[in-house]
Amino acid sequence: MAGTLPALGLGGLAVPGAAHAASPDAPLHIVCIGAHPDDPESGCGGTLARFTAAGWRVTIVYLTRGEAGIPGKTHAQAAAIRTAEAEAACRILRATPVFAGQIDGATEFNHARYAAFIELLRPRRPDLIFTHWPVDTHPDHEVAALLGWRAYLALRPRLGLYLYEVDLGGETFGFSPNHYVDIGAVVAQKKAALFAHQSQHPAEIWDDYHREMENFRGREAGVQQAEAFVELTRLWPQGGLPNVLS
Ligand SMILES: [Zn+2]
Repeated sequence: MAGTLPALGLGGLAVPGAAHAASPDAPLHIVCIGAHPDDPESGCGGTLARFTAAGWRVTIVYLTRGEAGIPGKTHAQAAAIRTAEAEAACRILRATPVFAGQIDGATEFNHARYAAFIELLRPRRPDLIFTHWPVDTHPDHEVAALLGWRAYLALRPRLGLYLYEVDLGGETFGFSPNHYVDIGAVVAQKKAALFAHQSQHPAEIWDDYHREMENFRGREAGVQQAEAFVELTRLWPQGGLPNVLS
């Protein structure tokens, strides 16, 4: 495989940031962007659990509150239910939820939206950003991917940008990972976070999609269960990022 995420990957590579992470004064900070409540948990909940266990701070930025995601409920009703579910999932992962204020099914990517999104993230000073892979059947996932990419370019988090899949073969297409994280030790924690989203029929989704995806990525990586990523970290031409993943 091409490499690993800092601090947590497979293959015993160097652990940039580990000493830093141990400092209570300055824990490293991950910002994970998802279009809807349950997307970050689906694509990288295990990885986020490993990072928080290692002392990193994790903020999950939900672009929407899943307003359109419960049949028979109004947007306001669904948003209230799914906000509470996202907050419960974040407690399980020991992450901090932030809601970015767009609307499920009607997300927008334009200059004003990405400028506002960058300013939402700027004071949080992420060291590393996760977001969706953009080639996806759900337009909100595409928007979240592009907002994450814009935030990455603007804020230059020093440990890079990693894109995650949410539903291989169902929503995520053309995804060819170059990084894997072994999540075998935290599968139960990830599953609990997913099952916090009771309005989304988690048992069916787990059986039909997530378990299959983790096992498939695990086979690729040579472990039981893994999550997979595309790393898009850029080496900035001037004053740039350290090549922490070499
Ligand atoms: Zn979604």
